[in-house]
Amino acid sequence: MTRPVPGDRLLLQLIEHFDGMVYRCRNDRAWTMEFVSAGCEPLTGYSVDDLELNRRVHIEELILAEDRATVRRCIEQALAERSRFDVEYRILRADGEVRWVWDRGYGVFGNDGTAHLIEGFIQDITTRKRNEQALIEAEQRFRDLFDNVAEGIFQTTAEGRYLRANPSLARIYGFESPAALTAHFNLVRDGLYVDPGVRERFVSALERDHQVRDFESRVRRRDGRIIWISENSRAVRDGDGRLMYYEGTVEDITERKAYEAQIAHHAQHDPLTGLPNRELMRDRLQQAIGVAQRHGRRLAVVFLDLDHFKDVNDTLGHVAGDALIRRVAERLVGCMRRSDTVARVGGDEFVVLSTEIDKPDAIPSLVQRILRQVVTPQQIEDREISVTCSIGVALYPEHGDDADALLKHADAAMYEAKRSGRNAFRVFTPELAAAVARRLDLVGRLRRAMARDEFFLHFQPKVAVADGEWLGVEALLRWQPQDGPPVTPAEFIPAAEESGLIVPLGDWVLQTACRAGLALAERFGHPMPVSVNVSPRQFRNTDLLRSVETALRDTRLPPHALDLEITESCVADDPSRFLDILRRLKALGVSLSVDDFGTGYSSMAYLKVMPVDRLKIDRSFVCEIGGDTADQTILQAITSLGHTLGLKVLAEGVENGAQYQAVQMVGCDEAQGYLFGRPVTLERLIEQMAGRPGLSDRLVMPPMA
Ligand code: C2E
Ligand code: MG
Ligand code: MG
Repeated sequence: MTRPVPGDRLLLQLIEHFDGMVYRCRNDRAWTMEFVSAGCEPLTGYSVDDLELNRRVHIEELILAEDRATVRRCIEQALAERSRFDVEYRILRADGEVRWVWDRGYGVFGNDGTAHLIEGFIQDITTRKRNEQALIEAEQRFRDLFDNVAEGIFQTTAEGRYLRANPSLARIYGFESPAALTAHFNLVRDGLYVDPGVRERFVSALERDHQVRDFESRVRRRDGRIIWISENSRAVRDGDGRLMYYEGTVEDITERKAYEAQIAHHAQHDPLTGLPNRELMRDRLQQAIGVAQRHGRRLAVVFLDLDHFKDVNDTLGHVAGDALIRRVAERLVGCMRRSDTVARVGGDEFVVLSTEIDKPDAIPSLVQRILRQVVTPQQIEDREISVTCSIGVALYPEHGDDADALLKHADAAMYEAKRSGRNAFRVFTPELAAAVARRLDLVGRLRRAMARDEFFLHFQPKVAVADGEWLGVEALLRWQPQDGPPVTPAEFIPAAEESGLIVPLGDWVLQTACRAGLALAERFGHPMPVSVNVSPRQFRNTDLLRSVETALRDTRLPPHALDLEITESCVADDPSRFLDILRRLKALGVSLSVDDFGTGYSSMAYLKVMPVDRLKIDRSFVCEIGGDTADQTILQAITSLGHTLGLKVLAEGVENGAQYQAVQMVGCDEAQGYLFGRPVTLERLIEQMAGRPGLSDRLVMPPMA
C-alpha cells in the first residue's frame, strides 16, 4: 500500500474521521512510522507530526514498558504466520494518562516474501476494559460471597436436583464439600426433610407466590442429627417465563429454635417444679375435653391445696418451703399415669388432670392415692415434715363442659374441703355451686348492709371465776338485714374478711364499742372494759394502730378500758411486723387477749414474746366437759401454760354448773358464757347490770371437790 493520493479523497476522509488511529509503519526495529491518521492526536495526545517518521516519539515508546514484549511477540508471530494480529495493551498518553487500546493489523509482504510494512488500526478501549474489569471484580465478589457467607446457598431444578451449593450449605448439612453434598442427594426430597410433605409444601408455595420467605423445617444432617433450618427461595425464570431453577438461602436456626422453645417452656411452666402452669393446664384441659367428648369418656379435675403451707414457710424458711413444694410435685407426678397432667397453679396449689376415671365411684380411690402421697412425711433438711392437703374434684361431663367451669368447680370443692376443717376432699355438687354463689351474694348484701346501717353490737359479760364479778364485756357484731332473717357472724365474718369489708366494718365496731364502754363507765361510775374482736385482715394491710388511736381519741375512752381480741392466725403473715404492731398497741395502754386459744397453729415461740395479757381458751375445750376427763386435762394444761407465761386465763363458752366447776378447778381466772349472760344489746346489758342480784343467788353451785 502506498500513501493515499488526494484522488482517494473519500477513503482519506473516512480514515481521518475514524474514532481511532490508522497507521502504517516499516517493519524495522523502530517500527518507523510512515503514516498515522488524524485520530492519532485524540488517542495518544501526540500530533501526526510527532509520530510520523518517529520524529518525536516511537510508537513502541508509547506502549507501557510491561506490555511491550507481549505486543512485539504477538505481531512478530502474526507476521511469521502471515496472519492478522490482534492485541490489547496499554499506552501512556502525552498527558501521562494510561489508556487501554486495541490494535489490529497485518503485514504487507513484498515479492521476496518478507513483510516490509505493517498496517493497522488502534482504538481506545479503556471504557470497555473498565467495564470488563468491573464485571470480573463483581463476579469475584459474588464468588467470595457464595463461598464465604454463613448462609447456605443453593440452586436446584424444579424436581429438586442440586445445580449448585456453596460450602456453607455443605457445612450446615454436614458434608465436607459442596460436591459431596450434591453427590449425596439425588433429589432434595429424598432424605433431607424430616417431616413428610415438607418439600411439596415448599414447592407449592414457590409456584404460587414465586418465592418463599422464612420457610422453617427440620432436616436430617449427614450424621443423622436433626436441625432446624429457615429457607428463603425464589423461582428463577427465563425471558419467556419458563422456570429455569430455584435458588435460595438456608440458615441453621436450631439454636434460635431451642431458645424459642425454652422461652415457650418458661411461659408455660412453673420454674420451681418444672410442672405445667395454669395456662398450659387450661390448654391441656380444653384439649382433653375435646378428646373425651369424641370418645364419650370422663375426665377428673383434681384441685389440691396444701394445708397451712404458710406455716412451713414461716417457721422453716422459704428454702424448706420450696423443697417441700418440689417434693410434693414429684410425688404427684409419680402417682399419676404418664398421660395425665399435673400442674402447679399457685403457691401451694396443684391441679391434676386425670383420664382414668370411668365412673364417679372411682373418685375416692384416685383421691386417696393422691392424699397418701402428700401426707406421707418427708425428710427435708434433716427434719421430718408432714403436711396435709385439701382436695376438690370436678368431673367432665357431670360438673362442667369447659375448662374454666371445671377448674372453677374443682376449686370451689377444694374451698369447701378447707372450710370443713382441711385434710379432706370434696366432690363438686350443684349445692356447692349454690354455696359459692351464696357467698358472692353475701358479699353484695354486706356492702349494702353497711350503707343501710343494718349492723349493731351485742355485749356479753366476762366474769371473775372466783366470785362471778363482772370484769368487762365483749362486743359482738350483729347483722339484722332489713328484708330478711339475721345472719350469724360465723356466716358473714368470713365473707367480710375475704372481701376486705371487715376493715371499714371493724373500724365501725371499734368506734361503737368504745362509745359503749364510755356509756357503761358513766352509768356505773367505774370503768367496764370492752373487748373488741380484731380480724387478721385488719392487721395485714391497714393501719390498725391509727384506727385504735382515732377511736380512743374520738370517744375519749381511757385506753385501759379497751381490750383487743386477736387470734393466733394474725401472726402468720409477717410475725415481726405483727409483733411490732402489738407492742405499739400495748404502748397506747390497751390490753390484749388471744382469742380462741388452742384452735390455731400455736407457736410457743411467738406466744412467749407476744405482749398479751390474756388467753381465752376456746369454747370447744369447755363444752365437752362433764363426762370426758381428757378435756379437763387439756384445760388444765392450757391454764398452767398461760400462768407460766404470766397471763390471765379465761374460759369461753361456760354454759352450765359442771363446766363452771371444772373451770374453777383448773384455776382459770375468768370465764364467759351463757351461764353468766348471753350477748345482748347495750340497753339490755345496762338493765341486767343494774338489776343484778348476786350472781351466786342464781346459780346452784355444785359442791367443790
Ligand atoms: P368469739 O370472739 O370467740 O366470740 C364468742 C362467741 O361465742 C360468740 O359468738 C358468742 O355469742 C358465743 N358464745 C358466748 N358464750 C357462749 C356459750 O356459753 N355457748 C355458746 N354455744 N356460745 C357462746 P358470735 O357472736 O356468734 O360470734 C362468733 C365469732 O365471730 C366470734 O367468736 C368472733 O370471732 C367473730 N366476731 C364477732 N364479732 C366480731 C367483730 O366485731 N369483729 C370480728 N373481727 N369478729 C367478730
Ligand atoms: Mg372474741
Ligand atoms: Mg373466742
